[in-house]
Amino acid sequence: MRSVTVLGGGIVGLTISRELRRRGIEVELLESRSIGSGATGASTGILTPPQHSRTPFYQLRTLAWKNWPQYAASLAAETGIDVGYRRCGAIDIRERTIRNPQREVKKLRDCGGRVEVLSQDQIRELLPDMVRSPEAGLRVEMEARIDPLATTEALRRSCHGAGVSIRENLGPIRIEPLGEGGISLVASGDIELSQPSEQHKVILAAGWESVSAALAMPPTPLPLDPVPGEAITLDLPAPPHMVHFNLLREGFRDPSGNRSIYSWIPAPDGTSWLGNSVASGHRDGGRTEAWSSAAVEPTAEGRDELVEVARSLFGAGVESRITDHRAGIRPKATRHGGPLLGMWPGRPQLWVATGHYRAGLLLGPATATMVVDSMLDGAPIPEQFQLPR
Ligand SMILES: Cc1cc2nc3c(=O)[nH]c(=O)nc-3n(C[C@H](O)[C@H](O)[C@H](O)COP(=O)(O)OP(=O)(O)OC[C@H]3O[C@@H](n4cnc5c(N)ncnc54)[C@H](O)[C@@H]3O)c2cc1C
Repeated sequence: MRSVTVLGGGIVGLTISRELRRRGIEVELLESRSIGSGATGASTGILTPPQHSRTPFYQLRTLAWKNWPQYAASLAAETGIDVGYRRCGAIDIRERTIRNPQREVKKLRDCGGRVEVLSQDQIRELLPDMVRSPEAGLRVEMEARIDPLATTEALRRSCHGAGVSIRENLGPIRIEPLGEGGISLVASGDIELSQPSEQHKVILAAGWESVSAALAMPPTPLPLDPVPGEAITLDLPAPPHMVHFNLLREGFRDPSGNRSIYSWIPAPDGTSWLGNSVASGHRDGGRTEAWSSAAVEPTAEGRDELVEVARSLFGAGVESRITDHRAGIRPKATRHGGPLLGMWPGRPQLWVATGHYRAGLLLGPATATMVVDSMLDGAPIPEQFQLPR
């Protein structure tokens, strides 16, 4: 294999392009809109280590967590951009933690860092401006945050510097089957594209929109669900730790089963972000057509939800501190096991890397190594990540 076309300029497409180029492969990255305009640009940059490493997915997460500090350092050395990696830890004041902190401590016993139960007074001291007064909580040492925009910019610069050809604003590129086991790339308008061959492969890394890019490719559709998420920027000083909490809102149940978790996050510019685990518009299996290819706009409903949540932490008047609002769609793999990685069944010219759901920032660099090792050296990809046949 001599060259690769990567579809999608989010963290997954960018990290894979960089890794391939570093290993001597010619890379062209095609982006339908602009680099970072998908979920990556809307995300809030939390890196959470796994609670164990008993399955391939948790092993990938463990590796990803361990490698991030070195990854951030190498991007900074190469590009001069600080990607904002800070191991700031987190305070967990979710209802279930408050009810039984010891049970939550037990769950985190293999997380590799200190976990400490906090009393009401300690929480008040750590978060003096918060209007809630939870009776207990946890301080978890092993959580970090990065700056997704700085990371995207550093990756773009690194790719450019290494000679990756990046083409943006192309509109959605589609993949179509060609004869027995081949594929072709199709763009709207008269955009010229290099076509795949035995020596020129394609990696589909278009986040949630990988579904629409490969609709013509059996087995379709890709087992992905769109899970929207929204976040606001608050002109409130960054907390020293991330704060995870929930607000049990009437009639809203998080389909992933862990009930409307929110996070208040120290933003890299000294202000703070507040984001949801799953936006309230989401319903189980909600493959809304409108999400299939259009750019995602923040919603009035999403803003109302986050304002209600912010009020529950900071009291009335917090709405006037909102300075930004953004939205994105997380690509959630619907079959059990983790992201979708590896060769497309029966189409050796096509590879896929998507389905990273809520952990694409954490997993992006580790995914890139796994996929590139497999493409170039035949290293096995765990069965759990491969596309169902
Ligand atoms: C509000 C929010 C908060 C989040 N917070 C976190 C967090 O704290 N930590 C974490 O680890 N993860 C977080 N995530 C999840 C994380 O953002 C995703 O897992 C990750 O960004 C997915 O990256 P990706 O490269 O697969 O997809 P994307 O970032 O969506 O990139 C896909 C790219 O492909 C392009 N594209 C689409 N179709 C085509 C096509 N046909 N041809 C060419 N290009 C195409 C799109 O324009 C886009 O730029 C969050 C997500 C959201 C929405």
